[in-house]
Amino acid sequence: MGKFARYIHQELGLSESEEPKDLADTDRYGMFKAGPVLSVSHGMGMPSMSIMLNELLKLLYHARCSNVVMFRMGTSGGLGLEPGTVVISKAAVDACFRPRYTQIVLGQEISRPTELDQGLVDELLHVAAQEEGLTAVAGNTMCANGFYEEQGRLDGAFCDYTEQDKLQYLQKGRDAGVRNLEMESLCFAALCKKAGVKAGVVCVTLVDRLRGDQVTTPHDTLKEWELRPQKLLAKFISSRLGIK
Ligand code: URA
Repeated sequence: MGKFARYIHQELGLSESEEPKDLADTDRYGMFKAGPVLSVSHGMGMPSMSIMLNELLKLLYHARCSNVVMFRMGTSGGLGLEPGTVVISKAAVDACFRPRYTQIVLGQEISRPTELDQGLVDELLHVAAQEEGLTAVAGNTMCANGFYEEQGRLDGAFCDYTEQDKLQYLQKGRDAGVRNLEMESLCFAALCKKAGVKAGVVCVTLVDRLRGDQVTTPHDTLKEWELRPQKLLAKFISSRLGIK
């Protein structure tokens, strides 16, 4: 997130005195500010994301921020996509492909909707179409509670299903509109929606899960792919701010 903040600092042409620093008074996440852009790390998985997001929403409220747009960006496994493709999420869905985030609050299950802002999806697709060398698609993002069994991987410490079971499950997801798999979007989409904050999810795919589980792409290529969501969001932010 520090690197992203420095990249945004450069793209927005901000002055040297505004060089981003880590502002977080906690070792649970980093928080960097580049002009009007706050860049915050969220760790791995929904519990970690939920803590950061609750605290960030309170911070934005007390700071009286308005017209806020939030993005989760990162990496994911793809479904039937060429690795390196960027997925702009239409909705986050759970591991049963339902657009809802289920929490247990005071011993009761509560479910919150997880559709994302469609205007934002269209705007991001439009920005992506102007970026050379960037393929972006819109689709649903399945958010799992784990990386291995929960995403149907065969290469974790445990696996009590066959490759055919795995492929059947992933194909069912693909048929339900899922284009990528990750571990944070559901909580992010639900809490932003509940807070009335516009939200988008932009993740690059590192592997096509219909073809394999392991990421075998060379390190340098992966590093370039990981920059793709950052480049797309930098262009989106610049265009929203009327820069370039
Ligand atoms: N993150 C995930 O949760 N799954 C992947 O396959 C890649 C990144």
